[in-house]
Amino acid sequence: MDRFQHYIDGAFEDGEGTFASIDPASGAPWAQMPLASPADVNRAVEAAHRAFGSAEWAGMTAMARGKLLFRLAELVRAAAPRLAALETRDTGKIIRETSAQIAYVADYYQYYAGLADKIEGAHLPIDKPDMEVWLRREPVGVVAAIVPWNSQLFLSAVKLGPALAAGCTVVLKASEDGPAPLLEFARLVHEAGFPAGVVNILTGGPEAGHTLSTHPKVAHIAFTGGPETARHIVRASAENLARTSLELGGKSPFIVFDDADLDSAANAQVSGIFAATGQSCVAGSRLLVQSGIKHDFLARLTAKAEAIAIGAPERMETEVGPLCTMRQRDRIALLIERSVAAGARVVTGGKVPDGPGFYFPPTILDCSDAPDAPALREEFFGPVLSVVSFEDEAEALSMANDTQFGLASGVFTRSLTRAHRMIRGIRAGVVWVNTYRAVSPIAPFGGHGLSGHGREGGLAAALDYTTIKTVWLRTSDDPIPDPFVMR
Ligand code: NAD
Repeated sequence: MDRFQHYIDGAFEDGEGTFASIDPASGAPWAQMPLASPADVNRAVEAAHRAFGSAEWAGMTAMARGKLLFRLAELVRAAAPRLAALETRDTGKIIRETSAQIAYVADYYQYYAGLADKIEGAHLPIDKPDMEVWLRREPVGVVAAIVPWNSQLFLSAVKLGPALAAGCTVVLKASEDGPAPLLEFARLVHEAGFPAGVVNILTGGPEAGHTLSTHPKVAHIAFTGGPETARHIVRASAENLARTSLELGGKSPFIVFDDADLDSAANAQVSGIFAATGQSCVAGSRLLVQSGIKHDFLARLTAKAEAIAIGAPERMETEVGPLCTMRQRDRIALLIERSVAAGARVVTGGKVPDGPGFYFPPTILDCSDAPDAPALREEFFGPVLSVVSFEDEAEALSMANDTQFGLASGVFTRSLTRAHRMIRGIRAGVVWVNTYRAVSPIAPFGGHGLSGHGREGGLAAALDYTTIKTVWLRTSDDPIPDPFVMR
């Protein structure tokens, strides 16, 4: 079996324990992973804390930090085929996706490389003639970055990029499911030349995550994952009072009006729910379609869903691969069973296929007669689309907002005025109009409600990893007057 190591304080080392990583396409173990004990996590945080105050890192200019990040971006580009293949092997994410996604992982590092020396402070026109007052933007400290299995390279780039640009140091915990690409990525961090302890990468499950998020020397917890784990993290942050940014799940509405370009909408809907085998936080998993076109649109979607090439994730022609874990597949099957019991109708898919691996077919559930079905409320995190119809714009909006989540949304219409009304009315962190699933390092991304808080991407994300220091400098040579009067 292949063997991976942790990266702590600039060195590659075994964890106190080990575990086997499972190949989702076969269900068989394929690699031995290090398992971080609390002691491993503590050492990583101590290393990050020491590095944060070190002359080597704290004394490095912002432009020099940017150069390191730029070098990292180039190394990621050069290692793209290897990283993509590893992610595909360890998580089942299809090679078509991992190879495309790794290119923009490099772009994220490049974007933040360019931002490192543009995180500016400010000078204040203070209301006292003998004072100069200015604001320094300083890095917040040690960042605990915790990511889930899907798109680990990408979900860590959106944390490491801005955190390092701001001058923070990081302990990154890869998910215990599919950690190989991040443990391999550590080699690039090392090669790029970041000082020891600035970036530490380890893997482990809830115990490692808990130790990391309660550590007194952690200043910011950047988390991507499910709402239940997010609650643990927020409780954990009561210990160290660390800041949190939470990127959680969704039950995102995908709204199709009868004046939309239906071909385009159908393709976007396929991408929105079946790409990444549905294991995408922005999955457009609730299709709201105007009643007059429901039959036609559903027929188009069903034909497309049934034509999807399901197969081995490492084959370029595969469009839907296995889910990452058996646990995930069983959960999806159970949610479908409960939705059917609540009145949902399976239009296509819906059953665990025979054979090895954690496969699940693209599935469409008509929930028109099942308003209380879990399929309309709970995140499946798999290739399952729930469909309901609406009569008019007001009903579409009220259905779209009938969720505790608030991450993404899609609107398909040719009417500009209607598009604007929907943009205004939808409660979600992202609204895509006549497109879906577009991302860029330049555009902030995040949600509210059960989808979390904080934004990743863009300048705002880098500022999130800073704190403001207010500096007062007295310019008068006269002695300080009456010490009992506040000035
Ligand atoms: P998860 O919440 O189970 O795990 C996420 C990470 O948290 C893992 O690294 C895990 O080891 C760690 N963890 C588990 N228990 C912990 C604890 N007590 N303390 C600290 N860390 C702990 O999530 P998952 O099931 O692996 O991933 C799927 C979820 O992630 C979905 O809900 C999905 O929507 C969400 N997600 C969100 C985004 C986004 O950007 N909004 C992106 C991708 C995935």
